[in-house]
Amino acid sequence: MDLLDTLTAKGLRGEVPTREEALAVLATTDDELLDVVAAAGKVRRRWFGRRVKLNYLVNLKSGLCPEDCSYCSQRLGSKAEILKYTWLKPDQAADAARAGVAGGAKRVCLVASGRGPTDRDIDRVTTTMAAIKEADPEVEICVCLGLLSDNQAERLKAAGADAYNHNLNTSEGTYGDIATTHTYADRVDTVQKAHGAGLSACSGLIAGMGESDEDLVDVVFALRELGSDSVPVNFLIPFEGTPLAKEWNLSPQRCLRILAMARFVHPDTEVRIAGGREVHLRSMQPLGLHIANSIFLGDYLTSEGQAGQADLDMIKDAGFEVEGAGEATLPRHRADLAEAAQAAQAAGGCGTAASACGSGGGCGPCGGHSHAPAETAETVPAPAEETATANDELRSDLVKVRRRGAGTELAPNA
Ligand code: SF4
Repeated sequence: MDLLDTLTAKGLRGEVPTREEALAVLATTDDELLDVVAAAGKVRRRWFGRRVKLNYLVNLKSGLCPEDCSYCSQRLGSKAEILKYTWLKPDQAADAARAGVAGGAKRVCLVASGRGPTDRDIDRVTTTMAAIKEADPEVEICVCLGLLSDNQAERLKAAGADAYNHNLNTSEGTYGDIATTHTYADRVDTVQKAHGAGLSACSGLIAGMGESDEDLVDVVFALRELGSDSVPVNFLIPFEGTPLAKEWNLSPQRCLRILAMARFVHPDTEVRIAGGREVHLRSMQPLGLHIANSIFLGDYLTSEGQAGQADLDMIKDAGFEVEGAGEATLPRHRADLAEAAQAAQAAGGCGTAASACGSGGGCGPCGGHSHAPAETAETVPAPAEETATANDELRSDLVKVRRRGAGTELAPNA
């Protein structure tokens, strides 16, 4: 298939496809699906070998958020029966983190619900990070506290944070449909603040919220423009008690196409299968490992994942290996680009690491893909056999609220 040959060749060179090629990946048929996975797998192995990075979530503060993100079980007015608790103490958080690291996680993700941290919250997280790093100095720490104010990213960096997560979630055009208490521009600003402070930027998306193929391509390219170093691809977990509870739009095949499209647009960036992996990929999870090079181990913030041991078994059975603490995740050239962009942004320049757009007019989208070669797909595949609104049956039985680990008396499942 000419499209896949083109995408593979570009990916092996670390080049970004055109927008039309990315859309064409989403429009491939089920007959073509294994070829799509194989093509994305070649790109994945070129830059990440057979390594799988494991990340472990610690929900420092759960529920009762004043923001209204429609997809979120912790949102304002959520009726989802999730765990609700205020800040974990540093030693409680460190205990939870230790369980994830013992299970094989290389990165611990410290997350708190809320619009954004106060300076006192930054102090709490600083103490928590110190407790975690005292037990294991090698562990990577990613912090996710919402929208950042001036100098908060710098404080987190100085306190030992390695990365900051803030997802764009969906396209700029549809952002207002999923949240009204903050804007897409607010989110971009926080990712830029984090990157500018020298933190690795982790920013991704949520698929399955009723968006179009164009929206998915828009957000995936926007993340490339923003220079995201890791791209979590979430698949909506439709929680009862949230506005998107009935949005069951994803099939395993659709999820694999979305992951492949993300891989082709981010050939040499960490692509992570994030929330919703078990719910939507189901028995196709191992195929996802051929595309993505990173997953979460065990449970999510408010929902349960499969057992940590099942994750490890899946990785081994599929012929992959867990990435070790001493191994670099990003290819060297990609890490150099990220460092250069951080230095440039700290100096007041454009921080669009991956695009090197040279727009000189700030860090907004620069038209996207003019840096990509003029090469285009020679054929456009036949229309997909399924649409974005596939007739997936309602599977609310697959959504299990987290009742163990952080914030409970029960051991986590890492
Ligand atoms: S995604 Fe974050 S900011 Fe939005 S409602 Fe959930 S916890 Fe609050």
